[in-house]
Amino acid sequence: MKPLPQAVIVGFPNVGKSTLFNRLLRQKKSLVHSLPGMTRDAVSAVCSLDGKTFILTDTGGLDDSAAEPLVRAVLERAWAAARRADLVLFVLDGRRELLPAEEEFFIRLRKLGKPLLAVLNKIDTEAQELAAGDFLNRLKLDSILPVSAEHRRNLDLLEEEIVRLLPREAAEKERPQPLRLAIIGRVNVGKSSLINRLCGEERLITSQIPGTTRDSTDTFLLRNKKIFCLVDTPGIRKLSRTRDEREKASVLKAKKTIVRADVLCQVLDAREFPTRQDLTIAHLAEESGKPLVLALNKWDLVPAGEFAQGHRDAIGRRMSFVGYAPVLTVSALTGRRVVRILDLAEEVYALSSRRVETSRLNAFLTWINAAHPPLTKTRRRLKIKYMTQQGIRPPTFLLFAHRPAPLLPAYEKLFLQLLRGKFGFRGTPLRLRLRKS
Ligand code: GDP
Repeated sequence: MKPLPQAVIVGFPNVGKSTLFNRLLRQKKSLVHSLPGMTRDAVSAVCSLDGKTFILTDTGGLDDSAAEPLVRAVLERAWAAARRADLVLFVLDGRRELLPAEEEFFIRLRKLGKPLLAVLNKIDTEAQELAAGDFLNRLKLDSILPVSAEHRRNLDLLEEEIVRLLPREAAEKERPQPLRLAIIGRVNVGKSSLINRLCGEERLITSQIPGTTRDSTDTFLLRNKKIFCLVDTPGIRKLSRTRDEREKASVLKAKKTIVRADVLCQVLDAREFPTRQDLTIAHLAEESGKPLVLALNKWDLVPAGEFAQGHRDAIGRRMSFVGYAPVLTVSALTGRRVVRILDLAEEVYALSSRRVETSRLNAFLTWINAAHPPLTKTRRRLKIKYMTQQGIRPPTFLLFAHRPAPLLPAYEKLFLQLLRGKFGFRGTPLRLRLRKS
């Protein structure tokens, strides 16, 4: 997934950042939800202007108030957002004097050395544009853009400037596709809690991402300028009353949700795993061929001194068929390492899309033919002549032999394990197919 360029709106409280943000979005643009703890009070949206797609972020947040300690907090947040941005829109209030603190903040922003656009807001009439001169002098600027967010004055000029100043890559016509992640697992492992944690306690604002379809239950998240979509399947749980029915429903739900996802995250309860249901769902994940991350949740309840490695080993022993999946210890309750799920999901998706050159595969084959000669189910040696990668997601390999015969399952497992280790296929199932040469 390529990160999208980001334009950030910064400025002091009450200069009109939020109005400007909303005006720039109009109705047709979509909103995505921001992650807590990163840009907690910021609202972001995916925008398309003139074929350029980018993220627009308003750093104002809800506590847009002029109370002194708050101003400081708002500014620090704005500063952090500006440092990550590709374009900074610094909004000023044209109906009052420039504040010394604003001047100071602007000098700081300028030192970032990135595209910076000074926007003079609340200029409702041509006569009021005279105020711009003073700002130009004090800020030592060549130009400032007078606009009125409220009355939609000069917003077309502002849009033009944004498009001009955004990095070139944003000109791609292709829409960014969010990575579709399914959080699956049996009842009570903490799926809903994890999803809530990922979304933060803030209100969810979602609508259509340009060029994509979505269901009402999908949630968009923003992390490191990339969009993730949490896919969910509604309505199944409501039907169930007894525990047994709920268990069955959770399996059914996992099945339906897996189909709609690019990457899976199976949640396990660190105090009790794997149960029969865990195994059933993990089998569904493996059979789907989709990349998988395991989240060992409720880690806060695990006694101090117990190591993650012990739990990883237990998973390796009892759920060896998904032994390829990285295991992340998390706590939906404390939020510990929860957002790492998104990073890992992205990583395993990339690995499941990877292709290895035929020459490297055949070098591996030469080595394995000598070091671990292939065995068939009937425990005969099988001479594999040639090997090539047929496809991705999941990575699928063709093995050619004169007289192909099914491999001994234990041998196939060893072969896959060595192949995985050699080429770093982490988090993705692999498939082998035998062919006659
Ligand atoms: P779901 O059925 O998988 O969606 O599970 P829920 O999200 O409804 O969580 C089931 C129960 O586990 C609830 O009582 C949660 O409060 C609790 N829970 C979820 N995550 C954690 C966690 O990380 N730590 C602790 N201690 N409890 C958790």
